[in-house]
Amino acid sequence: MIVRRAEQKIAALLAPVAGEDARLEASFLLRAQGFRSPYQNVTEADAEALQPLIERRLSGEPLQYVLGEWEFFGLPFFVDKRVLIPRPDTEILVETAMKTLTGDRRGVLDLCCGSGCIGIALAVRASARVTAADVSADALALTERNAAKNGVSVATVQSDLFASVEGTFDLIVSNPPYLSKADMDARGAVLRFEPELALYGGEDGLDFYRRIAADYRRHLKPGGTLLLEIGMTQRQAVEALFGHSECVCDYGGRPRVIAVKEYD
Ligand code: GLN
Repeated sequence: MIVRRAEQKIAALLAPVAGEDARLEASFLLRAQGFRSPYQNVTEADAEALQPLIERRLSGEPLQYVLGEWEFFGLPFFVDKRVLIPRPDTEILVETAMKTLTGDRRGVLDLCCGSGCIGIALAVRASARVTAADVSADALALTERNAAKNGVSVATVQSDLFASVEGTFDLIVSNPPYLSKADMDARGAVLRFEPELALYGGEDGLDFYRRIAADYRRHLKPGGTLLLEIGMTQRQAVEALFGHSECVCDYGGRPRVIAVKEYD
């Protein structure tokens, strides 16, 4: 059977979970198995190797975990159930961060780094010197693999927010857990594959912003910037926590990044 036909067959199988993305997801699965051309031959053995991946996807596991790799900011990252799947929504955080990195002011702390995608994107695309911190040792292990995959080195530190972080930085960037109790309940089954540790921000979703607001100044250089990803309904609450700040919207027009600048 040629790839094109296999893609149709896989898409038909995936339709109940993938809906209108079924064809695209089928093509991702085939690419992950090394198929590049629509006319390559898919043998029985190839089809068998694909079967467990299709079954995982049919159980509701996100495509990104099934593939084990996903792109963020045009770069490849290993992802698995130990970390949040990198979202396109977060690319605006990286773009905003890049604008703040000038001259030799390139020391960056990526707080709650997860897969490491934010810090690593900054290291690759803006020559940032990155320290990546996360409370999860599993996340840090993945960050280290991802740094190596992208040909950069980042320092890693296991830390509950700033607790074990030392030194000061030109930029602190963070996509902390920010879903509220109500958000978590509303997502229900969809969420069950991603780690709650990476998503749940307490009853009102703001716990991590409160703790960051209390401590970030000690780790920011004069003239440095703090950039936080926020959920689309959190702008006012987070602005109130930090006082002086600016808000940047994502490409869907939703408030997505709060920027706090410390004056020289
Ligand atoms: N944006 C993510 C989501 O809505 C949440 C990310 C986070 O909590 N940091 O699933």
